[in-house]
Amino acid sequence: MYTAIGYAAQSSTSPLAPMSFQRRSLRPDDVFIEILYCGVCHSDIHQARNEWGIAVYPLMPGHEIVGRVSAVGGQVTRHQVGDLVGVGCMVDSCRHCEACRQNVEQYCLEGPTMTYATPDRVDGSNTLGGYSSSIVVSEHFVLRIPQGLEPASAAPILCAGITTYSPLKHHGVGPGHKVGVLGMGGLGHMGIKFAKALGAEVTLFTRSAAKAEEARRQGADHVVVSTDAEQMRAAAGRFDFLLDTIPVQHDLNPYLETLKFGGVHILVGLIEPVEPPLHAANLVMQRRVLAGSLIGGIAETQEVLEFCAEHGISCDIEMLDIRNINQAYERMIAGDVKYRFVIDMATLQA
Ligand code: NDP
Ligand code: ZN
Repeated sequence: MYTAIGYAAQSSTSPLAPMSFQRRSLRPDDVFIEILYCGVCHSDIHQARNEWGIAVYPLMPGHEIVGRVSAVGGQVTRHQVGDLVGVGCMVDSCRHCEACRQNVEQYCLEGPTMTYATPDRVDGSNTLGGYSSSIVVSEHFVLRIPQGLEPASAAPILCAGITTYSPLKHHGVGPGHKVGVLGMGGLGHMGIKFAKALGAEVTLFTRSAAKAEEARRQGADHVVVSTDAEQMRAAAGRFDFLLDTIPVQHDLNPYLETLKFGGVHILVGLIEPVEPPLHAANLVMQRRVLAGSLIGGIAETQEVLEFCAEHGISCDIEMLDIRNINQAYERMIAGDVKYRFVIDMATLQA
């Protein structure tokens, strides 16, 4: 066992606080990673505060992990001591179901083991995430960080990046398509970059008119202020795809009306019931599709890392001292971060 330290919530109402704990001894296929950076995802907040009702405490968030391999198990072939590697939202899956065989382990029929707050498949212990000094992960779930990516700004690619890249690729987004991205936070700003890099014409839907200039800098061709009914009406029937990263319940109907016939509204931000209700006519009368998407498989996560290196795409980050993690959560909820906090793990030892 390895002694580690990290920040965890002990209950849905307690702030994150330092905690000492044990990482397991290496199994033959395990990689030991000393964590350098970890991105802060809105899912971390949902989970720390049990907003999805599935939290397990102590809850140590963090699933945008970049670090260096410092030991490997006897059967490890893919990674070596000294490699710069990443870990995203999953650390295991059944590896034999239809989804796992198709390299979409996130849809594992037995349920993937998430990086935090899920029982480990072997010993049943509660997984603890990347707000910590180290992590032990089976090599299949460890990604290579390509040369040319800056390690700290690469970390959010492991969740915010893959979660926005995967549905755009799955739905065949490319030149000639008009894509709307809903919400410009960690996921949304990556969605804009990917949709643009894939050749689409990109529009940001935002509550904040003040984000218009920033959105254009990220690659958006147009901006619609979603709280302005006039602008929403003017956008009616224009889009092939909407990538919806809004993290709270919201009325989908006015957004569906901005899709062309046959257009697809892809939810990634929401895993609660749709409220207010969906008006089915907004789908039926125009053959529109309401879809969802969960992160991405391990092979596709490696692909998006390579795609980012090739296209010079990285996440816009604000480096965070882990001692300020609780204030950072409040700032994220207030929309006050451009556009991802990344914890500098050196501050854990400070
Ligand atoms: P952020 O907090 O970084 O960004 C969310 C953005 O949504 C904000 O910047 C804001 O954009 C908009 N927004 C926030 N609150 C509201 C509101 N009350 N009404 C309307 N718009 C709002 O979050 P992330 O990008 O980290 O995560 C987004 C969601 O995606 C979260 O729910 C997260 O759990 C989920 N997620 C899903 C994954 C999946 O696999 N499906 C994976 C990772 C995350 P603006 O100011 O431009 O309106
Ligand atoms: Zn995430």
